[in-house]
Amino acid sequence: MRRVTGPTDHVVVVGAGLGGLSAALRLAGAGRRVTVLEREAVPGGRAGLLADQGYSFDTGPTVLTMPDLIADAMDCVGESMSDWLTLDPVAPLYRARFADGSALDVHASVDAMADEIALVCGAAEAAGYRRYVSFVSSLYRLEMRDFIDRNIDSPLSLLRPSLARLAAIGGFRRLAPKVAQFLADERTQRVFSFQAMYAGLSPYDALAIYAVIGYMDSVAGVFFPRGGMHAVPRALAGAAEKHGVELRYSETVTRVEMRGRRAVAVHTASGERVPCDAVVLNPDLPVARRLVGAPVRRRLTYSPSCFLLLAGSTTAYPENAHHTISFGHAWKQVFDEILGGRLMSDPSFLVTSPTASDPSLAPAGRSSYYVLFPTPNLDGPVDWRVERDRYLADVVRTVEARGWPGFGAGIEVSHVTTPLDWAARGMERGTPFAAAHSFGQTGPFRPRNLWGENVVFAGSGTQPGVGVPMVLISGRLAAERILGPDPSYRSRAWL
Ligand SMILES: Cc1cc2nc3c(=O)[nH]c(=O)nc-3n(C[C@H](O)[C@H](O)[C@H](O)COP(=O)(O)OP(=O)(O)OC[C@H]3O[C@@H](n4cnc5c(N)ncnc54)[C@H](O)[C@@H]3O)c2cc1C
Repeated sequence: MRRVTGPTDHVVVVGAGLGGLSAALRLAGAGRRVTVLEREAVPGGRAGLLADQGYSFDTGPTVLTMPDLIADAMDCVGESMSDWLTLDPVAPLYRARFADGSALDVHASVDAMADEIALVCGAAEAAGYRRYVSFVSSLYRLEMRDFIDRNIDSPLSLLRPSLARLAAIGGFRRLAPKVAQFLADERTQRVFSFQAMYAGLSPYDALAIYAVIGYMDSVAGVFFPRGGMHAVPRALAGAAEKHGVELRYSETVTRVEMRGRRAVAVHTASGERVPCDAVVLNPDLPVARRLVGAPVRRRLTYSPSCFLLLAGSTTAYPENAHHTISFGHAWKQVFDEILGGRLMSDPSFLVTSPTASDPSLAPAGRSSYYVLFPTPNLDGPVDWRVERDRYLADVVRTVEARGWPGFGAGIEVSHVTTPLDWAARGMERGTPFAAAHSFGQTGPFRPRNLWGENVVFAGSGTQPGVGVPMVLISGRLAAERILGPDPSYRSRAWL
């Protein structure tokens, strides 16, 4: 494994997103002096917090999977996750609602899920689901250790027996037809393939290896932290500070001073020069590369984006689940439209109600909603200055028609984020989901995390990729570039 060269006593981490915090904890645990410079007033980055009129809205991730990775980051400084965070399992993981009026509650317990599928779709489908679980569980075991949670310097290093086994079980076939080998009902096919969208791909184009994302939620479980998702970065930042990491908020880094191929200091907008032995850069990768003056060598394809409505409301829907995915009639067309630069004409979308699990996130008697509609990124022709308000009205109308009657009338506080807003926050092409995970942008082909002699990238634009579990791993991989391999990690619970 290639490593940072020279001294590494003082590491500056730019950005207190989950990737940066994960790296900072591991570096501090190994005895390095660590300074984190964060542009915002709070940690978390995309896992941000918006407080307004007694409501606490999470602004980014809502589906928390694989909490072992949070526990592991805390363990590096000798802290126990349970002392910092209370995680409640979300049950059902989510409810899938279909255009024909039927619904499927998704459970982590294989038996409970098989029972639900038997009830809604029949016994043969439930048997297919059990075979599907066995397939994705094998995928997970083959991928996690050798391809995901690992620094990869060359594609050649992937030529190991697990690659042949992945090919043998059909990991390199397309996801949609692979899922259809196990599941015949269009509803279950959707439930176990829509996750390709998290990777920025249509299930008709994605390789079956991406079914591993479905394993992480549908099989390993979904959790909700008391206090909302933002409790996660707050906990990580708190543990880091307790163990000597200097966390400085409202500090924007304007450039990294290079001497040849070596970073020697970081400059802030307030005019300070912070000397460093090595630097970890957590901003969106194109921003991070500009900070060190790294040339743009490749044109990457970026994931679709999203339109996000955060609503504080006087209306409760007590019969609804914490997470609901509402599927329209259209399916393949949804991906064709989004990836082709068009807004969905028959949308599929996510409605999360955090107050269903933690009423303290809203004033007494009020509820909060997080409504996410996938959209094209800014490579598409949609002009959000023109479309924003019209689309907001469409979104509210669609949500009302799909099972939240009176949704618009109940809203007393609202915040909208469009792809233009994501771009204004420094996210390339206006997507918060980074470069897509097409085959040529995954694993050894995804932009590397080591640059020059002592610059390391962490976050969703680099290896292994997008999502909370992946960026926590990216922080681990970044720290490993500085510290060298951690001999104990191969015995970790999730591997
Ligand atoms: C709407 C939405 C929904 C999502 N849903 C899910 C989900 O349900 N489940 C899931 O697992 N993932 C989800 N994700 C993805 C997940 O949130 C991200 O992949 C992850 O949080 C990205 O973390 P990061 O560390 O790469 O980057 P960031 O969180 O962006 O962290 C980068 C940090 O760097 C700081 N920074 C940037 N520039 C500078 C500078 N010049 N100087 C100093 N600091 C700087 C930023 O302020 C930020 O704090 C979602 C994301 C969004 C936005």
